[in-house]
Amino acid sequence: MASYDYDLLVIGSGPGGYVAAIRATQLGMKAAVVEKDKAGGVCLNVGCIPSKALIHQAEVFHSGKELEAMGIGLDLSGFDYANVFRKSRQAADRLSKGVQSLLKKNKVEYIEGTAVLDGGHAVKVDGKPVTAKNILIASGSRPRQIPGFEFDEKQVLSSTGALMLEKLPKSILILGGGYIGMEFAHVMSTSGGEVTVVEMLDRILPISDAEVVSVLERDFRRRGVEFMTGTKAEKLTKKKSGIALDVSNADGSKTLEAEMLLVSVGRAANTEGLGLEKAGVKTEKGFITVRDYYQTDADGVYAIGDVVATPQLAHVASKEGEIAVEHMAGHKPEKSIDPDLIPAGIYTEPQIGSFGPTEEQATERGLNFAKATFPYRGAGKAVAIGQSEGMVKILYDKDTHEFLAAHIVGADATELIHELLLAKRSELLPEDIATMIHAHPTISEAVMEAARAVEGWMIHA
Ligand code: FAD
Repeated sequence: MASYDYDLLVIGSGPGGYVAAIRATQLGMKAAVVEKDKAGGVCLNVGCIPSKALIHQAEVFHSGKELEAMGIGLDLSGFDYANVFRKSRQAADRLSKGVQSLLKKNKVEYIEGTAVLDGGHAVKVDGKPVTAKNILIASGSRPRQIPGFEFDEKQVLSSTGALMLEKLPKSILILGGGYIGMEFAHVMSTSGGEVTVVEMLDRILPISDAEVVSVLERDFRRRGVEFMTGTKAEKLTKKKSGIALDVSNADGSKTLEAEMLLVSVGRAANTEGLGLEKAGVKTEKGFITVRDYYQTDADGVYAIGDVVATPQLAHVASKEGEIAVEHMAGHKPEKSIDPDLIPAGIYTEPQIGSFGPTEEQATERGLNFAKATFPYRGAGKAVAIGQSEGMVKILYDKDTHEFLAAHIVGADATELIHELLLAKRSELLPEDIATMIHAHPTISEAVMEAARAVEGWMIHA
């Protein structure tokens, strides 16, 4: 029998790679992770974590302003965004070090270097040969560039450049109204900047439920964020004092000006320079193609996370890594993640938490569904804390009442969604949530009332 240096070699230490490696050692495998940059990948270093640190602090600053409504005038003139930036880096660095110690604690070898597949079970790390019975590609993604709008990270920013700003621009144009663009719009507008979002499609957050997004959009507009949807960015001109962006839409053409442009139009998979051809790993439309259990076309080589064509989310990468590793270890995990059971969070104010098809997708799929909604203003807690803008929306099968999807917009939506997701996964019915006692006052009561709305017996509507 062939002997290998490792049972598993993981390429990339993002939330896909490091979780997979730890799961592997839990299952008795000898595992190593190769990382060419910082431990923790995009999520911990230039993604989920620093962005949420910025969002939290921007919200703290904003609530300082709200104190004025209580007659407490705070002097906020000392606000220095450089401190906000530093705190976000501290959170990222702390968690990146945390990943290294988790790997050590779980006896995963951490190898610094660049990995290239060398065919079969061989990989070269900075030119040094290593062999493994199984190889897991978790090389992630990077901000997508578009010709004519290349990042210089001074005036034309990627999400990475935007996270590294030590001083916020007075005005910014955001090209792309997806969740990353909207989270930056939130940080910049709550910190006092002028924000305009330019989106080619006819609405922002095009993959989220339209009704839920309209609540968020209304709130953003009230705060002064401008949206130009159905609008194409034609040409970028860099000037000494800022940038000018020529745009066109059904109303004609115009030029928008701002200090900076953030381009957030999606993420490209990191497939280049990995030796995929030599190893026989195929790609389609820039992503590695995978079969059941995230196996590629090359024997013993798996791929997960942002580098494959599944939702580019940290928890998706982690779960895919676990499935791949459990399959390698001879266990019988699910073959792949059910897309309707993936929760997604958007960390704006109001937040969005959701799973399953949107109302539009449910209609397109021809599902036999009905919807039940309940507004946050019917939950005492939401009113008490001044967060009464929001709603819980449940899509359910008209005949069986089985949960199909849920979309929540409002305070804590990213946390609240899990009660409904657990119910769906456990094959509970809305009446199980409707009849369960929910503590008062909590925003969870709005979830209970939405479940009651399925049979029309809400109390606070
Ligand atoms: P990555 O995290 O991209 O990690 C891949 C790693 O592989 C990198 O460290 C890279 O250096 C390394 N690597 C690549 N090639 C090689 C090689 N040849 N040799 C060695 N190492 C290599 N997701 C959420 O779920 N929630 C959020 O709130 C969220 N917020 C985000 C905010 C922003 C601003 C951004 C940009 C992303 C956000 N994401 C969020 C997405 C999330 O970061 C990604 O889905 C996640 O990081 C993907 O994990 P991964 O393990 O596939 O790859």
